[in-house]
Amino acid sequence: MDATNPTNPSTTNATDAPAPARPLVALVGNPNTGKTSVFNMLTGTRHRVGNYPGITVERVTGQVLGAATPTDLLDLPGTYSLAARSPDEMLVTDALLGRQRGVDPIAAAVVVVDADNLERNLFLATQVLDAGVPTVIALNMVDVAARNGVRIDVARLSSRLGVPVVPILARSGQGRMALVETIDTVLRSPSVGLRFDWPAAVEESVDSLARELAPILPQEACPPPYELRRALLDVDGYVERRLRAIGDSIVSDILDRHRQRLSDAGVSLPDVESSQRYAWIGELAEECIVRRPPRERRRSEQIDNVVTHRVLGSLIFCAIMGGIFISVFEWSASLMELVDSVFGTLTEAIHGALGEGVLASFLADGVVAGVGGVLIFLPQILILIGMITILEDCGYLARAAFLIDRLLRTVGLGGRSFVPLLSSFACAIPGIMAARTIESPRERLITILVAPLMACSARIPIYTILVVAFVPEKLVLGFLPLQGLVFAAMYFFGIVVAAIAALILKKTVFRGPEAPFLLELPSYKVPSVRAIVLRMYDRGKDFLVSAGTIILAMSVIIWALLYFPRPAAVEQNVRAQMVQAGVTEEERIDKAVAGAYLRQSVLGRIGHAIEPAVKPLGWDWKIGTAAIAAFPAREVVVSTLGIIYNLGPDEDATSTVLHEKLRAATWPDGRKVFNLPVALSIMVFFALCCQCQATVAIIKRETNSWRWPIFVFSYMTVLAYVAALLVYQVGSRLA
Ligand code: GDP
Ligand code: MG
Repeated sequence: MDATNPTNPSTTNATDAPAPARPLVALVGNPNTGKTSVFNMLTGTRHRVGNYPGITVERVTGQVLGAATPTDLLDLPGTYSLAARSPDEMLVTDALLGRQRGVDPIAAAVVVVDADNLERNLFLATQVLDAGVPTVIALNMVDVAARNGVRIDVARLSSRLGVPVVPILARSGQGRMALVETIDTVLRSPSVGLRFDWPAAVEESVDSLARELAPILPQEACPPPYELRRALLDVDGYVERRLRAIGDSIVSDILDRHRQRLSDAGVSLPDVESSQRYAWIGELAEECIVRRPPRERRRSEQIDNVVTHRVLGSLIFCAIMGGIFISVFEWSASLMELVDSVFGTLTEAIHGALGEGVLASFLADGVVAGVGGVLIFLPQILILIGMITILEDCGYLARAAFLIDRLLRTVGLGGRSFVPLLSSFACAIPGIMAARTIESPRERLITILVAPLMACSARIPIYTILVVAFVPEKLVLGFLPLQGLVFAAMYFFGIVVAAIAALILKKTVFRGPEAPFLLELPSYKVPSVRAIVLRMYDRGKDFLVSAGTIILAMSVIIWALLYFPRPAAVEQNVRAQMVQAGVTEEERIDKAVAGAYLRQSVLGRIGHAIEPAVKPLGWDWKIGTAAIAAFPAREVVVSTLGIIYNLGPDEDATSTVLHEKLRAATWPDGRKVFNLPVALSIMVFFALCCQCQATVAIIKRETNSWRWPIFVFSYMTVLAYVAALLVYQVGSRLA
């Protein structure tokens, strides 16, 4: 295998198109090698890093700080090879080969490799070199490698690969300047690295392929030898699809003929590529890597034996997950109460200062209730994100995914669905986006379709209020709080329904063979406090900005729909009636007036109109109204209930706490509206209903069709209604 070949004819990226004004450099590498850390180190921005394969799911660009020529950097998703099977791999391949529409071709690649897993990482690195892309190798995690007794001869590695190799510590930023300077050098004089010696039969086929395709394809579409070799050897059909699109099926016929010729000549397709590469990498490793007995690795393996053990590991898994959810609930409860009471006080203060006019109502019941409704989620989101980050960063999450793979497999999902589903407990949107890392299209789609059933943090407030108000505060078996159990049961309920839905989808819509699960187990690390705090900060900010604006706007709109129209005649009529009936207490008259206004408000009328439909669920028109208002974003349900019950006639004057107002609410005949079956029916409805426009929109974007978002919306909404109906009808007969 020879080294440098600066005039490799397959160097297409830098020469095909006019040079872009600012060169674009792409970060490539296996998942979890520290690409995002390198990105942050080079651009000075903070992006989400994680000790879990496949965390980078979106295209992120930034500018390299301190570069001699202004240079843009592109962070790409992690991938093990340039086979373009999953959407992630497709994105990387497109970017490297300059096939992305409307995006400048890249000028160079920085391949981030994990020094502790060099052989496996070099598989992708040599593919990138083969593609003729000018390359710098960033040798990351040298600290971990050193701890594990792995020493790498950097100079030798560089001369064997024919490209610069820069050892770095991406997390702490060491080696930054050397890397920036090397990138500058490579951009100034682009050269490409080693060229593989393929078996002669392969090279002959590539040559004659080029000759045969020349008359069929337009000249500019004629692929360079590298791509012809891909078309011939690759199992993913990436190049072949494109050639067929231009040159018709005759291209496939020609390719098939050559493949046949190769296999007649004893070249086994598609294995030839991996056997060729690994043989070469093995030789190189002998030369460049020295290993001492790895103490750390032994320890890591000992830990793995326990945490991935079928019985012991499963127990640990359950304990950790249980611990997370209990502490999320327990730790955030007092913070939520604090938020609640601050906003309660604020509401009173506004009414105290401004009286009862439209302005006071707008500020107190629209704006303050809306802001409070947003802020109240923050504790839970932050705590859950913080915990996921800790688990991810220390390396446990990948083990958990490995452990739970078999279980997920029985319902048509797989280990890779684990993190998307777990993230969905905070919010379905990052969860659905994380599903991009799933290779099997079937697993990916099923994951997307059931992710919205996970109990996202927007459901927590409605669960909390109803649990606190209607589940007795007592201990089961002497130590388990009943309220916490019911709360946990709601989470479990979402998981079970998701499992059943996935199973049904697997058995009906998506029949077919399963994809194998290959997941790298990253080395254990002590989580970095900085990374955790930054992630919590970023996510908290994202949430406040994106969800906050929607929820706040919705609260104001809903307030208006509940407040208007407000003709003075209504008040005069009610007063007249009360006087006629001999009622003189000002307080009772006020409540009757407020109730009358609410009933004839826009949303009040809608609520009354749908009351027959929600009555079988045990709901009055106010709950129905709140549920309808929650369809754009379920977050607003609590503030809507707050608005309805603040404006409403049932208000308990001694209390500003919503759950006490709910307890006091009555039907016109004086019966209490809420009891346990009603509370459960509401919780079940909110557990299952697709009340989130943002989720619907993200499913449309990720599946690129309206079919699946419509499907999700319909199945979840129908399921929610039917389940709530069953719970109430059965529950109220038992009660
Ligand atoms: P990506 O998946 O390739 O984008 O990798 P990330 O940048 O998300 O990093 C994966 C994990 O490796 C994170 O926990 C990082 O903090 C950690 N990490 C990154 N660079 C280094 C390094 O040089 N040394 C050590 N010990 N850890 C690192
Ligand atoms: Mg990343």
